[in-house]
Amino acid sequence: MTRSDRVLANVDAAADEIVDFTRELIRVPTVNPPGDLYTECAELIGRRLADCGFETRYFPAEGRPEHTTRHPRVNVVGHRSGRAARPLVHLNGHFDVVPAGNGWTIDPFAGVVRDGKIYGRGSCDMKAGIAAALYATEAIRRAGIELNGSIEISGTVDEESGGFAGVAWLADRGHIGASRTDYVIIPEPLYVDRICIGHRGVYWFELTTHGRIAHGSMPFHGVSAIEHMAVVLDRIRRELMPRIAARSTAMPVEPPGARHATLNINGIDGGQPVGGIQTPCVADRCRAVLDRRFLIEEGFEATRAEIVELLDRAAADVPELRYEIRDLMVVHPVRTPDDSPLIGVLDRGLRRVLGRSGGVIASPGTYDHKHVTRIGGVTNCVAYGPGILDLAHQPDEWCGIDDLVNATKVMALALLDLTGTPS
Ligand SMILES: [Zn+2]
Repeated sequence: MTRSDRVLANVDAAADEIVDFTRELIRVPTVNPPGDLYTECAELIGRRLADCGFETRYFPAEGRPEHTTRHPRVNVVGHRSGRAARPLVHLNGHFDVVPAGNGWTIDPFAGVVRDGKIYGRGSCDMKAGIAAALYATEAIRRAGIELNGSIEISGTVDEESGGFAGVAWLADRGHIGASRTDYVIIPEPLYVDRICIGHRGVYWFELTTHGRIAHGSMPFHGVSAIEHMAVVLDRIRRELMPRIAARSTAMPVEPPGARHATLNINGIDGGQPVGGIQTPCVADRCRAVLDRRFLIEEGFEATRAEIVELLDRAAADVPELRYEIRDLMVVHPVRTPDDSPLIGVLDRGLRRVLGRSGGVIASPGTYDHKHVTRIGGVTNCVAYGPGILDLAHQPDEWCGIDDLVNATKVMALALLDLTGTPS
């Protein structure tokens, strides 16, 4: 038996433990918002890391406004030294989950296993990924192999709300950074046979139109902010939407519909609250929140300028149309370099474990890759993990046990290769 054969055999032998640990994680409903039970979940991961030979440290996100007594933002990082400090491979998983929502036929937080699938909110996104990362390292240890490099595993908070108290916080303080971290793998659910090399950009903004209040029986004395918002949204729909839909990226974004730039109107609010007490007034204010996903080829500056230009033109054409735009969040696109060793190493692992490789993909939405690369400066970062992207955030979310075990194997082989450990 080669050393890598022994590692793979140890993953198989640990299959029940991997499944059980995933279920344990699902049973801690770390729902975000608001960020429930983060300390408990960090400690659950920390205890298992310690059992598996990791030195474990907890990092509450001191200084972040969302880190409160009621909802502390606690991250956990385990470090296991090999023969050398470098290369250092960091495996990162977020343990927050989105709310369960409606439509479940199974208890979302019971960790039910049925027909080879683990069900639950956060099963694929991404508690299975955390279990896979942990047991990939454990299988190597159980095979009696000391790596020629070191490993870190982090469980972090708030990825679903931007990751500012999680990976961004750790990267900001140098815990994940180019001066010490060589490779980062994030086991997000992006299909067990695919390697994810980054994501599109996000420009999330609030648009407000300002009108002038007047009595609703004499609307001609006022200026309706709602009507002006309608003008603006109509121009966005007729002019901007077709223009951006015609643009496509060279990045292999899945699903292919997301290879184009997109815009979603997340919400709108103006005038009398619907269902509230009646106020016979002309709406003097209307607000909308918009989510523009832009391509790496477009860039942020041009994306924003195009929207401002459209708004300025509307303001010039329509008397008394006044608007204001406020940036809520900007995430720049990221892309792993084509020659990153991570891609080749994972690709080889996929061919060995699954007998096939689906190659590289890019994600339609962002994930913590952005912070690793843009704050931490680590360009050798990919997402690879168990689970089907389409099931994330859905009712009856599940992760296949086969996927979970196979992803653990691929990650274990990658750890051997990335640290230059003879396999
Ligand atoms: Zn996720």
